[in-house]
Amino acid sequence: MDPLSIDNPPDIITAKAAAIHEAMLRESRQMREPSFRVIGTDDLARLFRLYDEQIFAGWLSRTVTEKAAGPVIFRLSSTMSRAGGKTIEHRHMNADGSRHIHFEIAIASRLLFMTFGDIDRPVIVCGVLCQDRLQAMQRIMEHEIVHLIELLVWGKSSCAADRFKMLASRLFGHSQSTHGLVTPRERAAVEHGIKVGNWVEFEFDGVRHIGRVNRIHHRATVLVEAADGMLYSDGKRYQKFYMPLPMLKAVGTGTATDR
Ligand SMILES: [Zn+2]
Repeated sequence: MDPLSIDNPPDIITAKAAAIHEAMLRESRQMREPSFRVIGTDDLARLFRLYDEQIFAGWLSRTVTEKAAGPVIFRLSSTMSRAGGKTIEHRHMNADGSRHIHFEIAIASRLLFMTFGDIDRPVIVCGVLCQDRLQAMQRIMEHEIVHLIELLVWGKSSCAADRFKMLASRLFGHSQSTHGLVTPRERAAVEHGIKVGNWVEFEFDGVRHIGRVNRIHHRATVLVEAADGMLYSDGKRYQKFYMPLPMLKAVGTGTATDR
């Protein structure tokens, strides 16, 4: 079984993905519903194994065993706030100077849990419309599996490149490399009405500040003009605050406000 020679027709892709979806709900101890509320790293290992068995006839785990020092390590990331997943090749030096590698696949559990929650909109992952959290996770795992295949065969991988797109399309019917999950940025915009670029007001150490939202991750980065602050590319000096979103109040979107 050579994954590079697989060219699955759309009905086979849909049928296999549905069978894996069913098997996950049947076999997982934690995932009780398609938009599961609890997930473990053993579920990622299970999902990977199901794909390996049902689509690659074991090629993935066989090739990983050949090339790496151990099986793929799976991780659920509650901090990844942009990418839906990540496949990493770790290189290590042995005591005798020789090298070994191992692979890691991380899935952004935080984004999955934000999606199919209170923000109700169509969710398109890798160009495929998903109906539930498990389907979205499958698309992300599929995407990461293509990264793994490229790393195993060519030693490098890029989902912006044509080779990746062709493989992802033939194997899984993906038409895009983007995930379309709800991100902290979108959630903040919907929940708190706060977007990057907005002027906000907040209190810090008893002092009221007004500044501009520069970035939204777990918290918002707010830049407040200050004579003793850091010099930024717009020629002004700012003090930087990392603020929890609920502590911010939007103060309109115009130009600088008097303090
Ligand atoms: Zn990618």
